[in-house]
Amino acid sequence: MDYDYDLFVIGAGSGGVRAARQAARSGARVAIAEADRVGGTCVIRGCVPKKLLVYASQFAEEFEDAAAFGWSVGSVEFDWSTLIANKDAEIARLESVYRDNLARAGAELIESRAVLAGDHRVRLARTGHTVTARTILVATGARPNPHAALAGHELCFTSNEAFHLEKLPKRILIGGGGYIAIEFAGIFSGLGVDTTIVYRGREVLSRFDMDVRRLFHAESTNKGVNIRCGEVFERIEKRPDGSLAAHLSGGSIVETDAIMLAVGRTPNVAGLGLETLGITLDKAGAIEVDEYSRTRASHVYAIGDVTNRIQLTPVAIHEAMCFVDTVFHNRPTKPDHLSVATAVFGRPEIGTVGLTEDAARERYRNLDIYKTAFRPLKGTLTGRSDRTLMKLVVDADTDVVLGAHVLGPGAGEMAQLLAIPVKFGATKADFDATMAVHPTAAEELVTFAAPSERVRGGETLAA
Ligand SMILES: Cc1cc2nc3c(=O)[nH]c(=O)nc-3n(C[C@H](O)[C@H](O)[C@H](O)COP(=O)(O)OP(=O)(O)OC[C@H]3O[C@@H](n4cnc5c(N)ncnc54)[C@H](O)[C@@H]3O)c2cc1C
Repeated sequence: MDYDYDLFVIGAGSGGVRAARQAARSGARVAIAEADRVGGTCVIRGCVPKKLLVYASQFAEEFEDAAAFGWSVGSVEFDWSTLIANKDAEIARLESVYRDNLARAGAELIESRAVLAGDHRVRLARTGHTVTARTILVATGARPNPHAALAGHELCFTSNEAFHLEKLPKRILIGGGGYIAIEFAGIFSGLGVDTTIVYRGREVLSRFDMDVRRLFHAESTNKGVNIRCGEVFERIEKRPDGSLAAHLSGGSIVETDAIMLAVGRTPNVAGLGLETLGITLDKAGAIEVDEYSRTRASHVYAIGDVTNRIQLTPVAIHEAMCFVDTVFHNRPTKPDHLSVATAVFGRPEIGTVGLTEDAARERYRNLDIYKTAFRPLKGTLTGRSDRTLMKLVVDADTDVVLGAHVLGPGAGEMAQLLAIPVKFGATKADFDATMAVHPTAAEELVTFAAPSERVRGGETLAA
């Protein structure tokens, strides 16, 4: 059969754009449909605008600290609308770069919602036309869970709207304990908003190392964020004066000006026509794929957040590259989801790669744990009590570093570089053989003399 396209990509976000460009460059006839703005979550309402707001939120501390280094900063003021306008201009610039890149690669951009309409067929909602493709890639991403079961959820907003609030609230409650909740708590509190996190679990950031989680909680609290664990919203109501009242599971009522919900992300599968091709979903509602990102329909693949493997931009991009290698370069390639480094751009920042101590304890009998928490050099003049944490989890039998965890300034940047030795199986001896860069915080990672904890046969021994 003659198809209109070799590849039709649904969704022009991190994964879809990369796949479309790479496939088009290799000579394939490619179309990519986008229902909203080109660039997807990461560029338009995720990583990039978030990081710009994070930068904005860091200035208040810098202004305060400047005095200890001899600077008089004078009185300072912050204007939310200037920040949002400048951020929007940068996002518009980036969006046009994404469009240009698609055009340069030779991929056709179709600005329409697209859905599967039977074998090799895609229907474009804008025109009602149906086109055909040899291979279809679903890269539709995910969206914030609106928590529809919560009475009063319509009074709350999610990360999507957080980037366009008309004005900064005086007080905010944030529901959730994942990295999006934590990062926005850092943004709002850094900008002077009285910030409270309400999280149902026993400690925030559930997938991170427990030492990191505990220290994050303590440091964040020191910076003025109120973290309430073990509680959930039971209902939200609006008061006559316009304020909101959040009724929490413990019986308390918290009054606030705004509530943000960051309680997970739902894969964008509704109305996509997956059932017409027998494509199945997992328990979380994500598209089920095999090791090569292929769905139950042999000509339909899915990558990125809609498959809910690891919801991060570099992972979606990696899955896209593997898909193109597999389908267009005749090199079957499975995405590698091991030792993916990640950062939480919170206050303080976290960077991590590899196994947490708890995960390592489940898989290894003998471990050496190296950790240190200290006040960074800058704090000696400012008087700030902020602590930095460095931790290595080492397999005591092979000396291989299984996990590296950092909390403190620059942790995200450190995680990127730590990912290389951890990914390639470096040993503690390799770390030790590496000369320190002095004076840095990161030098602690190559100068650990003795473990602070030894685990032998699953039992913790005194160091
Ligand atoms: C607030 C926030 C902060 C984040 N920060 C980070 C970070 O710091 N680092 C990081 O690595 N990741 C971060 N992420 C996650 C990252 O943004 C996602 O993992 C990534 O964007 C996933 O890419 P994707 O291609 O799967 O989907 P998306 O980028 O979501 O793209 C999917 C696209 O498909 C479109 N679409 C959906 N349905 C259809 C349809 N039927 N027809 C046509 N188009 C459709 C959507 O409009 C969207 O543009 C963040 C996410 C959020 C929400």
